[in-house]
Amino acid sequence: MTREKSEGIYFPDTFKKISKQHHILLSSNVLNGRILKLNMEPFIISVIALKMQLHRMQLPREVVVGNETLPLLSEICKRLGFRESALVVTGPDTKSIAGYRVIDLLSDKGMDVNHLVVNSSTMWEVRAVEEKIRELKTQIVLGVGGGTKIDVAKLSSTRQGIPFISVPTTASHDGIASPVAAVKGLKKPFSMMAQSPMAIVADTSIIVQSDYRFTASGCGDLVSKFTSVRDWELAHKVKNEYYGEYAASLALMSARLVTKNADIIKPGSEAGLRLILEALISCGVAMSIAGSSKPCSGSEHLFSHSLDKIEQNGALHGEQCGVGTIMMAYLYNIDWKGIRETLQNAGAPTTAEELGVEPDSIVKALVQACTIRPERYTILEEKRLDYDSAEKLAKVTGVIS
Ligand SMILES: [Zn+2]
Repeated sequence: MTREKSEGIYFPDTFKKISKQHHILLSSNVLNGRILKLNMEPFIISVIALKMQLHRMQLPREVVVGNETLPLLSEICKRLGFRESALVVTGPDTKSIAGYRVIDLLSDKGMDVNHLVVNSSTMWEVRAVEEKIRELKTQIVLGVGGGTKIDVAKLSSTRQGIPFISVPTTASHDGIASPVAAVKGLKKPFSMMAQSPMAIVADTSIIVQSDYRFTASGCGDLVSKFTSVRDWELAHKVKNEYYGEYAASLALMSARLVTKNADIIKPGSEAGLRLILEALISCGVAMSIAGSSKPCSGSEHLFSHSLDKIEQNGALHGEQCGVGTIMMAYLYNIDWKGIRETLQNAGAPTTAEELGVEPDSIVKALVQACTIRPERYTILEEKRLDYDSAEKLAKVTGVIS
């Protein structure tokens, strides 16, 4: 086996071949077809990196996006080898939107299906699901609902060493397809690595009925890749951190696609929703390939996490990240006005007022953002904002007046 140095990592030839195939699969399928269906060969690639570190990529095996795709779930479970038992993690509202349908679909095929209703993504809920997994010795967990339910399903299944399937009912952020989970009650206020969903089934006929605010929030999480990829590049240059061009390009492509097609992202538009969903899934895959959240979470995410600490009742994750992106793009001297326009066209917030937070909280969040995750090198390390410069930044970008 020959080895070639690429971005600080030695990739065996076999990996390069698979990586190329997946690139073709993703770029062609994400753009075309009414129902997006990726049937990835089961693989977990481990590449031996410099200093004998392990670079592990865990990718979804089945990705289905489209109208009335929920009924495919039982066939997918069967194909993946889950025929005995399943635990459905759903929410108080989402159980009637999709949860009960999923339970019926799987029960009809003879599976022993239990369910748990969770209210929020806290460690308390994660432990409750874990206990249920142990008690029932269930084969697979299905997260049916918005981001919080999927996060609880993702983390609890990871901790119990069983796979999970993501069945989103909103398109509010890229956690629907990523290997990272955001759960409250951990020592740190940001996401942690968990596992990729084994399958993602996104039924647009269900998601299009959710509050449009969630979809606009998904748009905010997507434009944030314009600055998160910059931050990742910066960390590579300054700190010599691993940087993967493939993962970075995939994340960036999602942000560009959304900007290019911003006019179709509007309430009731299934085409706009599909675009957002496919882009969010691509971002999830980018994180799986990178083995970290770095391609999709930079200074704009640190701003959002910082704002979460200051404002108890802040806005949605993607909404805050979108506003953060406008300001971080200004620091990078990239087209922040274009990013703001994309958000405005999609109906996502671009100001403190639209986020429903105090102008002072925006300024404080900017100042404190670099303390949230000190090991993550971003533009905030270079700029070192104090109260005055942060206020100036928020004003010049129109976030506060
Ligand atoms: Zn995010």
